[in-house]
Amino acid sequence: MLAIDHQGIAMMKDLIFPSQQIGDFSITAISDGYLSASLNLLAPIDPAQAYRMQQEAGVSDPSSIHINSYLVRGRDRTILIDAGAGGFKQWGGRLIANLALAGVQPADIDTIVLTHAHPDHIGGLVDASGDATFPQAELIVHKREVAFWEDDGHLGRASERARGNFLFARNVFEKYRDRTRLFCGHDVLPGIAAMPLPGHTAGHCGYRIESQGHSVLVWGDIVHFPQIQVARPEVSIAFDQDPVLAASTRSRLLDVVSTDELLIAGMHLGELGFARIRRAGAAYDICYEA
Ligand SMILES: [Zn+2]
Ligand SMILES: [Zn+2]
Repeated sequence: MLAIDHQGIAMMKDLIFPSQQIGDFSITAISDGYLSASLNLLAPIDPAQAYRMQQEAGVSDPSSIHINSYLVRGRDRTILIDAGAGGFKQWGGRLIANLALAGVQPADIDTIVLTHAHPDHIGGLVDASGDATFPQAELIVHKREVAFWEDDGHLGRASERARGNFLFARNVFEKYRDRTRLFCGHDVLPGIAAMPLPGHTAGHCGYRIESQGHSVLVWGDIVHFPQIQVARPEVSIAFDQDPVLAASTRSRLLDVVSTDELLIAGMHLGELGFARIRRAGAAYDICYEA
């Protein structure tokens, strides 16, 4: 009779998710599903050209955006970087079920680190009845990000669509108010350092995880359509608060990660979850890690 202990089953199930071992940390991409968008949100690029690039890359649904969260386990911590859309506007909503497949229940998460507070990253922090999904987790977020969404002047100037994002972010922050840690430097947790990546939102941050000479950069929303925006870094999306700054941050970062051959992860990098960026002439290619 085949005997598999509980840990063994968890490890077997883990194999269905893209995972990387970075020294003491295991990093697993946990899919929340997809959100439907439009290639018309991209500029400057002709939507027909954007569609062709998606098709040539073999993307089956060219206008949908995949959503990842990253589970980081190690040094006695169970950390989640971002929490998916959680079904907000019928986007995503698969995170909790997929975490369970990885052997992790919401109460097991002790820390949540946010790249930024767009609804496809914080929607999963509250459940269908509006309560906090993660009862034990400390919420760690850049001070500038929270200050932006809680500023009444910014809210007053927001479009109707953006206004909904402000109210949603404020509600989520409120649910975690008594266990939120705001930071403004680089040190977030032992082995995890923040890298401000401005443009997409005011406090948008990547996180570099380093241990035993290995590292990965979780770069948040540097791209939404990786097959287009890695090859054409000047192309921003309507979700970028400052499209020009977002494009210059993206170009600078692609230069750094390709030069350093750094392993990257990103919330909209796609189901494979991890990649490296390779310089290709004046532009870049994305090479997914097996
Ligand atoms: Zn975003
Ligand atoms: Zn996003």
